[in-house]
Amino acid sequence: MTHRSGRHFLQIPGPTNVPERILRAMDFPTIDHRGPAFGAMAREVLHGLKGIFRTDGPVVIYPASGTGAWEAALVNTMSPGDRVLMFETGHFATLWRQLAERLGLEVEFVPGDWRRGVDPGALEARLAEDRDHTIKAVCAVHNETSTGVTTRIAELRQAIDRTSHPALFFVDTISSLASIDYRHDEWGVDVTVAGSQKGLMLPPGLSFNAVSAKAQAAAETARLPRSYWGWQEMLTANAKGFFPYTPATNLLYGLGESIAMLTEEGLDNVFARHARLAEATRRAVRAWGLELLCIDEREYSNSLTAVLMPAGHDADAFRKATLEAYDMSLGNGLGKVAGKVFRIGHLGDFNELMLAGTLAGVEMGLTAAGVPHETGGVQAALDFLSGQGGRNQRDTELQDSLAL
Ligand SMILES: *Cc1c(COP(=O)(O)O)cnc(C)c1O
Repeated sequence: MTHRSGRHFLQIPGPTNVPERILRAMDFPTIDHRGPAFGAMAREVLHGLKGIFRTDGPVVIYPASGTGAWEAALVNTMSPGDRVLMFETGHFATLWRQLAERLGLEVEFVPGDWRRGVDPGALEARLAEDRDHTIKAVCAVHNETSTGVTTRIAELRQAIDRTSHPALFFVDTISSLASIDYRHDEWGVDVTVAGSQKGLMLPPGLSFNAVSAKAQAAAETARLPRSYWGWQEMLTANAKGFFPYTPATNLLYGLGESIAMLTEEGLDNVFARHARLAEATRRAVRAWGLELLCIDEREYSNSLTAVLMPAGHDADAFRKATLEAYDMSLGNGLGKVAGKVFRIGHLGDFNELMLAGTLAGVEMGLTAAGVPHETGGVQAALDFLSGQGGRNQRDTELQDSLAL
C-alpha cells in the first residue's frame, strides 16, 4: 500500500464519518458496567435518546448492528405463523422480509420497482380488505438506503387509521434517524428500528428499538422464542441505568456525545442541513445529465442520492476509478440495481464544503471512468448553496420550505 495524503472521503450512506468529538468522547477507560458511574452515564443516554426518536416511551439499546434490531422488533411482538405486511421498496426491505420468513412469520410482500416508497393508498386498500385482522404488523423502511427513496411515514399512519386496523406499525429508520424528520410518538409507530453508524455519526455496533405501550403489551403474549433480544429484561435493568448483559460501554460514551451534538445544533436544523445538501446534490446530478433512481420528488431522500448510470456503463467500474484517482468511497448498487447505480452518502457529520469536495470527486471520477456526462454539476450545486441559483420562484419557495 502506498501512502495517500489528505483525508479519505467516506461518502457511502453509512457507516458515515465519525466526528472528532465523538472519537475523543469514546477514548476513555472502559468502566465497571455494574458500578455507579456507569449507571449515571447510561441513565442520561437513555433519557437523551427519547428526544432523538421524539418519544416519551423507552428506547432499548442493543450491542448489535441494525439487523439485530430488525429481529428484536419481530421476536418481541409476533407469534409463529403471524402474518406481516411488507413492501418491496428496495434491498433493505427485501432483507427484512427474508429475516421475518426465517423466523417463521408469514410475509405478504407487496412488489415494487425500487424507485418509489410505500404507497399509502395500497396500504389502506390492503388493510381495508383484511376484515378478519389476520395482518398482525405492517413493516416499512423509512429511508430505503439502496434506492435513495424516503417513504412518507405520517401518511402511512393516516392510511392505517382510516381503516381502524389494529396491526402494529414497525418502521426501520436506520438511515433516516437524526437526518430526516421522524416522530415516533406523533406518527403512532409501535417499534422504531435504528442503528448507530448513519445519522447518529457513531461507529457501527449499536442498534435500537423505540417501543410503544401497544408493542409492550403485545410482547406479553407473543410466542416467538427470544432471549438475547427480550425487551423485558432490558427495560427492567435500564430503569436503574444497567443492562442484562455487558453493554458496549465506549459506544455509549460516543452516543452521549452524539446526542449532545444533535441537541446543540437542534434537530430541526439538522434536518434542514440535510435537506439543503441533498437538494444541492440532486442539482449536480441533473446538471451532469444523469438520472436519479427516485422518481417522485415527494420521496427524495435527504440522506443519500442514488444515481443511475448511463446504459452500457458499469457503476462499480466508475466507483473503482473514483477510489483509485481521488481516494473517495461511494456506495455501490445493491441487489437488483447492482452495477446500475451508485450512491452518494450526504448524511451525518457533513457540511457544504465536504459536499463540494464530494461532488468534485464524482465529476472528476466520471471523467476518469469515461462516463459520458455534462460538466457543471459542481457549479450547479455551489450556485444553489450560495444562493445564486435561488432567484426564480421555485427556488425561493424551496428555500423557504427548507427554512434557509
Ligand atoms: C444500513 C441499513 C440496514 C442494515 O443495518 P446493519 O447495521 O448493516 O445491520 C438496514 N436498513 C436500512 C434502511 C439501512 O440503511
